[in-house]
Amino acid sequence: MKALVTGGAGFIGSYLAERLLKDGNKVVVVDNLSTGSLKNIESFEKHPTFDFVEGDIRNVELMEPLAERSDVVFHLAAAVGVKLIVEEPVHTIETNIVGTEVVLEAANKFGRKILIASSSEVYGKNEAVPFGEDDDIVFGSTRMSRWSYACSKAIDEFLGLAFYRQYGLGVAIGRFFNTIGPRQTGRYGMVVPRFVQRALKNEPVSIYGTGRQRRCFCYVADVVDAIIGLMDCEQAAGKVYNIGSAEEISIEALADKIIEMTGSKSKKEFVPYEVAYGRPIEDMMRRVPNLARIKETIGWEPTTILTEALQEIITSEKLRIKNVKTIT
Ligand code: NAD
Repeated sequence: MKALVTGGAGFIGSYLAERLLKDGNKVVVVDNLSTGSLKNIESFEKHPTFDFVEGDIRNVELMEPLAERSDVVFHLAAAVGVKLIVEEPVHTIETNIVGTEVVLEAANKFGRKILIASSSEVYGKNEAVPFGEDDDIVFGSTRMSRWSYACSKAIDEFLGLAFYRQYGLGVAIGRFFNTIGPRQTGRYGMVVPRFVQRALKNEPVSIYGTGRQRRCFCYVADVVDAIIGLMDCEQAAGKVYNIGSAEEISIEALADKIIEMTGSKSKKEFVPYEVAYGRPIEDMMRRVPNLARIKETIGWEPTTILTEALQEIITSEKLRIKNVKTIT
Protein backbone atom coordinates (compact mmCIF):
# COMPACT_ATOMS: atom_id res chain seq x y z
CA MET A 1 0.00 0.00 0.00
CA LYS A 2 1.15 3.52 -0.78
CA ALA A 3 0.08 5.89 1.99
CA LEU A 4 0.09 9.66 1.97
CA VAL A 5 0.31 11.13 5.49
CA THR A 6 -0.42 14.85 5.79
CA GLY A 7 1.15 16.31 8.93
CA GLY A 8 3.48 13.30 9.08
CA ALA A 9 6.35 15.32 10.58
CA GLY A 10 4.12 16.11 13.54
CA PHE A 11 3.70 14.17 16.75
CA ILE A 12 1.01 11.60 15.88
CA GLY A 13 1.71 11.62 12.12
CA SER A 14 5.36 10.65 12.60
CA TYR A 15 4.39 7.59 14.67
CA LEU A 16 1.82 6.67 12.06
CA ALA A 17 4.36 6.99 9.22
CA GLU A 18 6.91 4.92 11.15
CA ARG A 19 4.39 2.17 11.83
CA LEU A 20 3.18 2.08 8.20
CA LEU A 21 6.78 1.69 7.03
CA LYS A 22 7.38 -1.10 9.57
CA ASP A 23 4.32 -2.88 8.19
CA GLY A 24 5.90 -2.86 4.69
CA ASN A 25 4.06 0.09 3.12
CA LYS A 26 5.35 2.97 1.01
CA VAL A 27 4.86 6.27 2.79
CA VAL A 28 4.93 9.87 1.59
CA VAL A 29 4.73 12.59 4.24
CA VAL A 30 3.68 16.10 3.32
CA ASP A 31 4.25 18.71 6.02
CA ASN A 32 5.06 22.42 6.11
CA LEU A 33 7.01 21.99 9.37
CA SER A 34 4.96 24.71 11.09
CA THR A 35 4.51 22.78 14.34
CA GLY A 36 6.15 19.55 13.16
CA SER A 37 9.87 18.99 12.76
CA LEU A 38 12.40 16.97 10.75
CA LYS A 39 13.64 15.60 14.07
CA ASN A 40 10.38 13.64 14.37
CA ILE A 41 11.12 11.71 11.16
CA GLU A 42 14.90 11.42 11.41
CA SER A 43 14.81 7.79 12.61
CA PHE A 44 13.15 6.66 9.36
CA GLU A 45 13.79 9.41 6.80
CA LYS A 46 16.35 7.24 4.98
CA HIS A 47 13.98 4.25 4.78
CA PRO A 48 13.95 3.07 1.13
CA THR A 49 10.17 3.36 0.80
CA PHE A 50 9.85 6.73 2.55
CA ASP A 51 9.58 10.15 0.98
CA PHE A 52 9.25 13.56 2.59
CA VAL A 53 7.71 16.52 0.78
CA GLU A 54 7.93 19.92 2.42
CA GLY A 55 4.83 21.87 1.46
CA ASP A 56 1.44 23.22 2.37
CA ILE A 57 -1.73 21.11 2.19
CA ARG A 58 -3.61 24.18 0.91
CA ASN A 59 -1.60 23.99 -2.31
CA VAL A 60 -3.83 22.20 -4.87
CA GLU A 61 -0.99 21.73 -7.41
CA LEU A 62 1.03 19.97 -4.75
CA MET A 63 -1.73 17.83 -3.28
CA GLU A 64 -3.32 16.45 -6.46
CA PRO A 65 -0.27 14.55 -7.76
CA LEU A 66 0.49 13.33 -4.23
CA ALA A 67 -3.03 11.92 -3.91
CA GLU A 68 -2.82 10.40 -7.41
CA ARG A 69 0.36 8.51 -6.48
CA SER A 70 -1.14 7.11 -3.25
CA ASP A 71 -3.66 4.38 -2.46
CA VAL A 72 -4.87 5.93 0.80
CA VAL A 73 -4.64 9.31 2.53
CA PHE A 74 -4.24 9.86 6.27
CA HIS A 75 -5.07 13.51 6.85
CA LEU A 76 -3.52 14.73 10.11
CA ALA A 77 -2.13 18.15 9.16
CA ALA A 78 -3.82 20.90 11.15
CA ALA A 79 -3.22 23.91 13.35
CA VAL A 80 -3.13 22.26 16.80
CA GLY A 81 -2.76 23.33 20.43
CA VAL A 82 -4.89 25.73 22.48
CA LYS A 83 -2.06 28.26 22.75
CA LEU A 84 -1.47 28.41 18.98
CA ILE A 85 -5.19 28.54 18.30
CA VAL A 86 -5.75 31.45 20.68
CA GLU A 87 -2.69 33.34 19.39
CA GLU A 88 -3.24 32.69 15.65
CA PRO A 89 -6.97 32.32 15.02
CA VAL A 90 -6.91 33.20 11.29
CA HIS A 91 -4.14 30.69 10.62
CA THR A 92 -6.12 28.02 12.51
CA ILE A 93 -9.34 28.49 10.58
CA GLU A 94 -7.60 28.66 7.19
CA THR A 95 -5.34 25.67 7.78
CA ASN A 96 -8.05 23.44 9.11
CA ILE A 97 -10.92 24.30 6.79
CA VAL A 98 -9.22 25.24 3.49
CA GLY A 99 -6.54 22.57 4.01
CA THR A 100 -9.04 19.78 4.60
CA GLU A 101 -11.13 20.85 1.62
CA VAL A 102 -8.08 20.72 -0.67
CA VAL A 103 -7.03 17.30 0.67
CA LEU A 104 -10.57 15.92 0.29
CA GLU A 105 -10.91 17.29 -3.26
CA ALA A 106 -7.59 15.70 -4.21
CA ALA A 107 -8.53 12.34 -2.64
CA ASN A 108 -11.92 12.47 -4.35
CA LYS A 109 -10.46 13.27 -7.78
CA PHE A 110 -8.57 9.95 -7.71
CA GLY A 111 -11.02 7.98 -5.53
CA ARG A 112 -8.55 7.54 -2.65
CA LYS A 113 -9.79 6.37 0.74
CA ILE A 114 -9.15 8.96 3.41
CA LEU A 115 -9.08 9.14 7.20
CA ILE A 116 -9.54 12.59 8.72
CA ALA A 117 -8.12 13.44 12.16
CA SER A 118 -10.78 15.31 14.08
CA SER A 119 -10.81 16.16 17.77
CA SER A 120 -12.77 15.69 20.99
CA GLU A 121 -12.86 19.52 21.01
CA VAL A 122 -15.80 19.06 18.61
CA TYR A 123 -18.00 18.15 21.60
CA GLY A 124 -17.39 21.69 22.89
CA LYS A 125 -19.20 22.51 26.12
CA ASN A 126 -21.46 19.48 26.04
CA GLU A 127 -21.45 18.08 29.61
CA ALA A 128 -22.32 14.47 28.77
CA VAL A 129 -20.15 11.74 30.31
CA PRO A 130 -19.04 9.84 28.35
CA PHE A 131 -19.26 11.49 24.91
CA GLY A 132 -20.96 9.39 22.23
CA GLU A 133 -20.18 10.16 18.59
CA ASP A 134 -23.76 11.21 17.81
CA ASP A 135 -24.08 13.55 20.80
CA ASP A 136 -24.84 17.23 20.23
CA ILE A 137 -22.00 19.67 19.79
CA VAL A 138 -22.23 22.76 22.01
CA PHE A 139 -20.01 25.73 21.20
CA GLY A 140 -19.47 29.01 23.03
CA SER A 141 -19.43 32.52 21.63
CA THR A 142 -17.53 33.40 18.44
CA ARG A 143 -15.64 35.95 20.58
CA MET A 144 -13.71 33.02 22.09
CA SER A 145 -11.01 31.83 19.65
CA ARG A 146 -10.92 28.40 21.21
CA TRP A 147 -14.23 27.56 19.58
CA SER A 148 -12.84 28.37 16.15
CA TYR A 149 -10.65 25.27 16.42
CA ALA A 150 -13.61 23.15 17.55
CA CYS A 151 -15.76 24.62 14.81
CA SER A 152 -13.08 24.16 12.14
CA LYS A 153 -12.77 20.49 13.07
CA ALA A 154 -16.57 20.15 13.01
CA ILE A 155 -16.59 21.66 9.48
CA ASP A 156 -13.89 19.13 8.51
CA GLU A 157 -16.22 16.37 9.70
CA PHE A 158 -19.21 17.85 7.83
CA LEU A 159 -17.07 18.11 4.69
CA GLY A 160 -15.78 14.55 5.00
CA LEU A 161 -19.25 13.14 5.56
CA ALA A 162 -20.59 15.24 2.66
CA PHE A 163 -17.94 13.79 0.29
CA TYR A 164 -18.95 10.31 1.45
CA ARG A 165 -22.67 10.94 0.90
CA GLN A 166 -22.49 12.96 -2.29
CA TYR A 167 -19.60 11.24 -4.12
CA GLY A 168 -19.35 7.88 -2.34
CA LEU A 169 -15.76 8.65 -1.30
CA GLY A 170 -14.43 6.32 1.44
CA VAL A 171 -14.05 8.80 4.32
CA ALA A 172 -13.61 7.73 7.95
CA ILE A 173 -13.33 10.24 10.77
CA GLY A 174 -11.35 9.74 13.98
CA ARG A 175 -12.17 12.06 16.87
CA PHE A 176 -8.92 12.00 18.82
CA PHE A 177 -9.03 12.70 22.55
CA ASN A 178 -5.84 13.83 24.36
CA THR A 179 -3.00 11.83 22.85
CA ILE A 180 0.39 11.62 24.53
CA GLY A 181 3.83 10.15 23.90
CA PRO A 182 7.45 11.05 23.27
CA ARG A 183 7.96 13.68 20.48
CA GLN A 184 4.94 15.70 21.62
CA THR A 185 6.03 19.26 22.19
CA GLY A 186 4.90 21.44 25.10
CA ARG A 187 5.35 24.60 23.02
CA TYR A 188 1.69 24.95 22.06
CA GLY A 189 0.18 24.35 25.48
CA MET A 190 0.10 20.51 25.60
CA VAL A 191 -0.05 19.64 29.26
CA VAL A 192 1.93 16.40 29.65
CA PRO A 193 5.19 17.50 27.94
CA ARG A 194 4.99 20.84 29.78
CA PHE A 195 4.66 19.13 33.17
CA VAL A 196 7.39 16.57 32.44
CA GLN A 197 9.87 19.20 31.21
CA ARG A 198 9.25 21.41 34.26
CA ALA A 199 9.43 18.50 36.71
CA LEU A 200 12.73 17.26 35.28
CA LYS A 201 14.20 20.74 35.78
CA ASN A 202 12.73 21.03 39.32
CA GLU A 203 10.89 24.14 38.13
CA PRO A 204 7.32 25.00 39.21
CA VAL A 205 4.71 22.91 37.41
CA SER A 206 2.09 25.39 36.16
CA ILE A 207 -1.50 24.19 36.35
CA TYR A 208 -3.83 26.33 34.27
CA GLY A 209 -7.15 26.99 36.05
CA THR A 210 -8.14 25.06 39.18
CA GLY A 211 -6.59 21.73 38.22
CA ARG A 212 -9.92 20.06 38.94
CA GLN A 213 -10.64 19.64 35.21
CA ARG A 214 -10.33 15.96 34.28
CA ARG A 215 -8.93 14.42 31.09
CA CYS A 216 -8.26 11.00 29.59
CA PHE A 217 -4.83 10.54 28.00
CA CYS A 218 -4.24 7.90 25.35
CA TYR A 219 -0.81 6.59 24.34
CA VAL A 220 0.18 7.42 20.78
CA ALA A 221 0.94 3.81 19.75
CA ASP A 222 -2.62 2.85 20.68
CA VAL A 223 -3.98 5.80 18.67
CA VAL A 224 -1.93 4.67 15.64
CA ASP A 225 -3.43 1.16 15.93
CA ALA A 226 -6.91 2.71 15.87
CA ILE A 227 -6.13 4.92 12.85
CA ILE A 228 -4.79 1.99 10.81
CA GLY A 229 -7.64 -0.27 11.94
CA LEU A 230 -10.22 2.26 10.74
CA MET A 231 -8.48 2.77 7.40
CA ASP A 232 -8.44 -1.01 6.85
CA CYS A 233 -12.14 -1.39 7.66
CA GLU A 234 -14.71 -0.96 4.85
CA GLN A 235 -17.60 -0.40 7.31
CA ALA A 236 -15.80 2.57 8.91
CA ALA A 237 -16.43 4.72 5.82
CA GLY A 238 -19.00 7.46 6.37
CA LYS A 239 -18.75 7.21 10.16
CA VAL A 240 -17.18 9.08 13.07
CA TYR A 241 -15.20 7.26 15.77
CA ASN A 242 -13.95 8.36 19.19
CA ILE A 243 -10.28 7.43 19.65
CA GLY A 244 -9.02 7.83 23.20
CA SER A 245 -8.62 6.34 26.62
CA ALA A 246 -11.36 6.10 29.24
CA GLU A 247 -8.83 6.32 32.12
CA GLU A 248 -9.58 9.68 33.69
CA ILE A 249 -7.36 11.89 35.85
CA SER A 250 -7.60 15.47 37.14
CA ILE A 251 -4.91 17.87 35.94
CA GLU A 252 -3.74 18.44 39.53
CA ALA A 253 -3.47 14.68 40.12
CA LEU A 254 -1.54 14.44 36.83
CA ALA A 255 0.92 17.06 38.11
CA ASP A 256 1.31 15.12 41.40
CA LYS A 257 1.88 11.88 39.51
CA ILE A 258 4.52 13.36 37.21
CA ILE A 259 6.33 15.05 40.13
CA GLU A 260 6.36 11.73 41.97
CA MET A 261 7.44 9.64 38.97
CA THR A 262 10.32 11.99 38.15
CA GLY A 263 11.41 12.28 41.81
CA SER A 264 11.18 16.05 41.28
CA LYS A 265 11.43 18.83 43.84
CA SER A 266 9.00 20.92 41.75
CA LYS A 267 6.13 22.71 43.46
CA LYS A 268 2.73 23.13 41.83
CA GLU A 269 1.56 26.61 40.89
CA PHE A 270 -1.92 27.57 39.76
CA VAL A 271 -2.06 30.01 36.83
CA PRO A 272 -5.36 31.64 35.80
CA TYR A 273 -6.31 31.03 32.16
CA GLU A 274 -6.16 34.79 31.43
CA VAL A 275 -2.52 34.81 32.48
CA ALA A 276 -1.61 31.54 30.72
CA TYR A 277 -3.25 32.45 27.39
CA GLY A 278 -3.27 36.25 27.60
CA ARG A 279 -7.10 36.25 27.54
CA PRO A 280 -9.92 34.31 29.20
CA ILE A 281 -10.76 30.92 27.72
CA GLU A 282 -13.60 28.54 28.46
CA ASP A 283 -12.51 25.08 29.54
CA MET A 284 -14.40 21.82 29.96
CA MET A 285 -14.43 20.00 33.28
CA ARG A 286 -14.56 16.47 31.86
CA ARG A 287 -13.97 14.82 28.50
CA VAL A 288 -14.43 11.05 28.47
CA PRO A 289 -14.88 9.05 25.25
CA ASN A 290 -17.49 6.36 24.80
CA LEU A 291 -15.46 3.67 23.02
CA ALA A 292 -18.28 1.24 22.25
CA ARG A 293 -18.50 2.09 18.53
CA ILE A 294 -14.82 1.66 17.69
CA LYS A 295 -14.61 -1.49 19.81
CA GLU A 296 -17.57 -2.99 18.00
CA THR A 297 -16.32 -1.99 14.52
CA ILE A 298 -12.61 -2.92 14.68
CA GLY A 299 -12.21 -4.47 18.15
CA TRP A 300 -9.94 -1.62 19.25
CA GLU A 301 -9.39 -0.42 22.78
CA PRO A 302 -6.29 1.16 24.30
CA THR A 303 -3.80 -1.23 25.90
CA THR A 304 -1.32 1.20 27.50
CA ILE A 305 -2.23 2.55 30.94
CA LEU A 306 -1.38 6.15 31.87
CA THR A 307 1.53 5.21 34.18
CA GLU A 308 3.24 3.26 31.37
CA ALA A 309 2.70 6.08 28.90
CA LEU A 310 4.13 8.66 31.32
CA GLN A 311 7.13 6.43 31.99
CA GLU A 312 7.90 6.28 28.25
CA ILE A 313 7.65 10.07 28.00
CA ILE A 314 9.82 10.71 31.06
CA THR A 315 12.50 8.26 29.87
CA SER A 316 12.58 9.80 26.41
CA GLU A 317 12.71 13.37 27.76
CA LYS A 318 15.62 12.44 30.08
CA LEU A 319 17.47 11.00 27.07
CA ARG A 320 16.76 14.14 25.02
CA ILE A 321 18.13 16.38 27.79
CA LYS A 322 21.22 14.16 28.12
CA ASN A 323 21.84 14.34 24.34
CA VAL A 324 21.46 18.13 24.32
CA LYS A 325 23.99 18.38 27.17
CA THR A 326 26.44 16.08 25.35
CA ILE A 327 26.25 18.21 22.18
CA THR A 328 26.67 21.58 23.98
P1 NAD B 1 1.26 18.32 15.43
O1 NAD B 1 1.20 19.80 15.49
O2 NAD B 1 2.44 17.65 15.99
O3 NAD B 1 1.00 17.80 13.94
C1 NAD B 1 0.36 18.56 12.95
C2 NAD B 1 1.31 18.60 11.76
O4 NAD B 1 0.67 19.27 10.68
C3 NAD B 1 2.61 19.34 12.03
O5 NAD B 1 3.71 18.55 11.66
C4 NAD B 1 2.51 20.60 11.19
O6 NAD B 1 3.78 21.08 10.78
C5 NAD B 1 1.63 20.11 10.06
N1 NAD B 1 0.91 21.19 9.38
C6 NAD B 1 0.18 22.18 9.94
N2 NAD B 1 -0.33 22.98 8.97
C7 NAD B 1 0.08 22.46 7.78
C8 NAD B 1 -0.14 22.84 6.44
N3 NAD B 1 -0.88 23.91 6.12
N4 NAD B 1 0.44 22.11 5.46
C9 NAD B 1 1.19 21.01 5.78
N5 NAD B 1 1.42 20.61 7.04
C10 NAD B 1 0.87 21.32 8.03
O7 NAD B 1 -0.07 17.81 16.17
P2 NAD B 1 -0.57 16.33 16.50
O8 NAD B 1 -0.84 16.30 17.94
O9 NAD B 1 0.30 15.31 15.90
O10 NAD B 1 -1.98 16.35 15.75
C11 NAD B 1 -2.25 15.59 14.57
C12 NAD B 1 -3.73 15.63 14.28
O11 NAD B 1 -4.46 15.07 15.37
C13 NAD B 1 -4.29 17.04 14.07
O12 NAD B 1 -5.23 17.03 13.04
C14 NAD B 1 -4.97 17.35 15.40
O13 NAD B 1 -6.03 18.27 15.26
C15 NAD B 1 -5.45 15.98 15.81
N6 NAD B 1 -5.63 15.88 17.27
C16 NAD B 1 -4.56 15.74 18.09
C17 NAD B 1 -4.76 15.63 19.47
C18 NAD B 1 -3.63 15.45 20.44
O14 NAD B 1 -3.88 15.27 21.63
N7 NAD B 1 -2.38 15.47 20.02
C19 NAD B 1 -6.06 15.66 19.99
C20 NAD B 1 -7.12 15.85 19.11
C21 NAD B 1 -6.91 15.93 17.75
